[in-house]
Amino acid sequence: RLFFPPERPQVTSELSNNVILTTLNDLYNWARLSSVWPLMYGTACCFIEFAGLIGSRFDFDRFGLVPRATPRQADLIITAGTITMKFAPALVTLYQQMPEPKYVIAMGACTITGGMFSTDSPTTVRGVDKLVPVDVYIPGCPPRPEAIFDAIVKLRKKMATEDFRERYETISQTHRYYTAQH
Ligand code: SF4
Repeated sequence: RLFFPPERPQVTSELSNNVILTTLNDLYNWARLSSVWPLMYGTACCFIEFAGLIGSRFDFDRFGLVPRATPRQADLIITAGTITMKFAPALVTLYQQMPEPKYVIAMGACTITGGMFSTDSPTTVRGVDKLVPVDVYIPGCPPRPEAIFDAIVKLRKKMATEDFRERYETISQTHRYYTAQH
């Protein structure tokens, strides 16, 4: 009788006004949304726009984004700028050094497709997603800081609806794939 009461207990209005019910998954995502720390990373002119974003004019930190100088404290990398073949292994190492869960925003034409180097340069990586998995793309040459904000908002929407168990399964499969590629 204790576990199967004949009538379901009613939640009083007083109780429903004072108790918040959620799932562990939503709580976990809510906590992460306001503490996405991007790596201070840039390889070409796109980084000038990213650096401008960090200044006081755009108030970048209002989303809890605190740029970090080490990948071990970062969970987001915004690949700002051209990626050369010579630099590609360093980018993969930086990504691997970031703790899970981690995210990638591909910023600018060069990083997404090779940009103006995409046709005849043998030294440029034609798509950062050949190296690391990308969550959001920002087209442009260079994208404006407002476009980076838009990408951050899209990333936060993605993070808010993630199931962390599915995320970790995907991460392990992706990690196996990219480790095999390199
Ligand atoms: Fe520079 Fe344009 Fe390439 Fe960005 S996309 S790194 S601004 S050339």
